[in-house]
Amino acid sequence: MYRKNMISATKSILKTPERSPEHEHTWHRRKIAKSWSIARLLRYGCEATRLAIRIRRAPGGCKIGAACTAAAVILASASCRHQPDIVHRTWPAMGTFASIIVPAEDSSLLPGLADEARMTLENLESRFSVYRTDSDISRINAAAGEHPVPVAPETAQLLEKCAFYSRKSDGAFDATIGPALALWRESSRKGTMPSPGEIRAAAALVDYRLLTVEGNAAMLQKKGMSADLGGIAKGFAVDVCLNRLQESGARNVMVDLGGNMRCLGSPDASRQWLIGVRHPFDRSRIIGRLSLASGAAVATSGNYERFVEIQGRKFGHILDPRSGLPADEMASVTVTARSACEADALSTAIFVLGMERGARLLQQFRECGAILVPNREPVEVWMTADLQGAFAPEKEYSSSVRLLDTRPGL
Ligand code: ADP
Ligand code: MG
Repeated sequence: MYRKNMISATKSILKTPERSPEHEHTWHRRKIAKSWSIARLLRYGCEATRLAIRIRRAPGGCKIGAACTAAAVILASASCRHQPDIVHRTWPAMGTFASIIVPAEDSSLLPGLADEARMTLENLESRFSVYRTDSDISRINAAAGEHPVPVAPETAQLLEKCAFYSRKSDGAFDATIGPALALWRESSRKGTMPSPGEIRAAAALVDYRLLTVEGNAAMLQKKGMSADLGGIAKGFAVDVCLNRLQESGARNVMVDLGGNMRCLGSPDASRQWLIGVRHPFDRSRIIGRLSLASGAAVATSGNYERFVEIQGRKFGHILDPRSGLPADEMASVTVTARSACEADALSTAIFVLGMERGARLLQQFRECGAILVPNREPVEVWMTADLQGAFAPEKEYSSSVRLLDTRPGL
């Protein structure tokens, strides 16, 4: 379905992958990730944007907070005089773009690592995609209410993770969101708003407890139900990819799949991987820069990239499973975690839950951090205290960043 040939990053960032006709006129997807990717930095260069993924000195000896933030700013402007010494390969994958980035001194490893990553992602996509009729997920959907379907071990594993994050988020994350997604897609195609009755009927078919996995067989217990792994599969795929690349000898590498990112090592001995978090209301800007320690992952959920349009109004692609309505309290939710799967699932869940309930969910994940932008203006940036040393907001927000209270018992 996607172009088979590798296309250069410069071009690929401007092109949208070929999709199934259904995908094409459903959720609009902007062409770049919500976190700025290295591919984007190489395309635009520092001079033009002064933003994007950067590398910065490790916070060795430097105290959390202002000192690190200042260091990032000094190095950011210094590094603008040079292209960072990293190389990357980018190609269309899983309805977005995948990039593998390594330090320039490891460039001889890049073709092998990119091939490995490409094969891994193609394999996972063939299991998880709802746009392929023979995928595990499409077969589970086709047999809903009828019989269990044998699935690959990685599918069973991912479905177990779906159940875990659904339980933790009390159903805000729900991979059985399919019927509600289909209703909004169909309404957009027809150009008419879905009726309250239609929305209620679709929401009644959403229930993660009815997606069961036993051994290597999975089943949706009710006819009309359908699963969609869009809120977690890319993160999961990044973890699988990173593990494979590590097994193949990679020590310093970043994997980016449509803004679901995870890194290993660092670009060089004295710096960390650094990414920019996009401004949800102005895609030409970022709200700040986030540095990632080895093994760290980050994902952003936003309502500005993918949406349906009905009668001139935009509706985001992340739905509240309870109501069947697009979640609209948040504009952007960025989560850092030990795994890309966790970052992906939690960013989607917190997007649905909003600030207060999202903060409560984070209490259960002490190793995760979050940067939240509510869906209102003027822009407010909220972050968890543990990211104080790692997240450097852009100057205009630095005095107005608020700390999100995630202490237990609140
Ligand atoms: P993106 O896919 O743009 O990176 P997310 O990771 O937040 O953004 O996932 C959004 C996708 O997740 C939607 O396009 C849809 O496929 C699916 N989805 C929508 N609402 C939910 C939900 N409440 N729980 C789980 N998945 C959802
Ligand atoms: Mg997600």
